[in-house]
Amino acid sequence: MNSTTNSEKLFTEAKSLFPGGVNSPVRAFKSVGGNPIFIKKGKGSHIWDEDGNEFIDYCCSWGPLILGHANDKVLENVSQTMQNGTSFGAPTKLENELAKLILTFNTYIQKIRFVSSGTEAVMSAIRLARGYTKRNKILKFEGCYHGHVDSLLVKAGSGLVTFGNSSSAGVPDSFVNETITVPLSNKEAVSKAFEKYKNEIACVIIEPVPANNGLLLLGKEFLTFLREICTQNGTLLLFDEVISGFRMSFCGAAGLYNIKPDIVTYGKIIGGGFPVGAYGASKEIMSSVSPEGDVYQAGTLSGNPVAMAAGIAQLTQCLQPDFYAQLEEKTNYLVDGIMKVNAFPLLKFFKLGSIFWLAFTNKEQIATAEDIDANSMAYFKVLYHELLKQGVYMGPSGYEVGFISAAHTKEDLDKTIKAFEIAIKKLA
Ligand SMILES: *Cc1c(COP(=O)(O)O)cnc(C)c1O
Repeated sequence: MNSTTNSEKLFTEAKSLFPGGVNSPVRAFKSVGGNPIFIKKGKGSHIWDEDGNEFIDYCCSWGPLILGHANDKVLENVSQTMQNGTSFGAPTKLENELAKLILTFNTYIQKIRFVSSGTEAVMSAIRLARGYTKRNKILKFEGCYHGHVDSLLVKAGSGLVTFGNSSSAGVPDSFVNETITVPLSNKEAVSKAFEKYKNEIACVIIEPVPANNGLLLLGKEFLTFLREICTQNGTLLLFDEVISGFRMSFCGAAGLYNIKPDIVTYGKIIGGGFPVGAYGASKEIMSSVSPEGDVYQAGTLSGNPVAMAAGIAQLTQCLQPDFYAQLEEKTNYLVDGIMKVNAFPLLKFFKLGSIFWLAFTNKEQIATAEDIDANSMAYFKVLYHELLKQGVYMGPSGYEVGFISAAHTKEDLDKTIKAFEIAIKKLA
């Protein structure tokens, strides 16, 4: 990496324009220190900053870019579509096409509604769960992120089953009081919550592959348990697959584990790099959504044709044979390669499919948020800046995971292993 003068100038200007200089907090580099890199362009697995530095990218826009940057077929479909206008606020054929592409291969849902972000998908899905069940309370897990929905910006209080505290100013206690928070992987806590709030819980929301607070390896058994206890209690099981959807498999984590949730939310990959989210469920549950039912939900730019075109082009490529197996192979190659040259015993990798997470820990497994040692982030900080110097870009926080895209080549992975080898030496 050469100079970062242009990024620094742009960040100084940005700070006068946006809170903290950014339009989404983690971009500000606060947890790794230093200034954010301003990106000028991307192609395939590589990005270039405003100073002309080149990086191999493992952030991939936080997950959406499963084909890498500026994928030819996505660009072609987008540019063709936008010649005919960019938004109508009336139905277009492209919405049908993307929906059919998803519903044909995804047997877990029968109908879908497109929205414009993951947060919006979750917010709408929660309203649907409440409207359908005529219940108010929701149960979430400590360590899962579901976007910046008011009632989900909740951190656990002390105790096994709690109404947590809001994790953001501006969220009234009265909202938080409808959200029950329990630790991940804790069956006892879930059972207790169901005993205590019998017939009150509208839905249990979970990231079936929790990947927003490290990669917390959960496994099938706990999800199966949730499926059963939800069914027994007339509670809907909501898989928030905004990050795992079209990533763990075409049918997300539901497909990976073959567990049928009642409602699923998507985002990130579904829009091919454009702002798209979606929620889906059975025909019966979805019939509660307006204008068919009485759960109101709408969006001026929902199902935007340009975004639909990007999604169609991206998801079509995800359906190619062995697509997911190849991603996983690359991930294994990278992680195994780094572990071979790893000279720092605390550095461990956790991975699933094409998601990987590096942590500094003595533990063999990290299954809950409490297992993550906040002090270990000091190591991540050092490693992060060394990797940048070596031309490797990752999400600027030790709590964030890395993503492998179809565009990452063996040469990229070999270079990355080399970069890690050098960077790890700085840790000792
Ligand atoms: C990213 C994410 C969200 C929020 O999506 P946005 O598009 O950022 O609003 C919600 N849930 C999960 C699991 C996510 O990974």
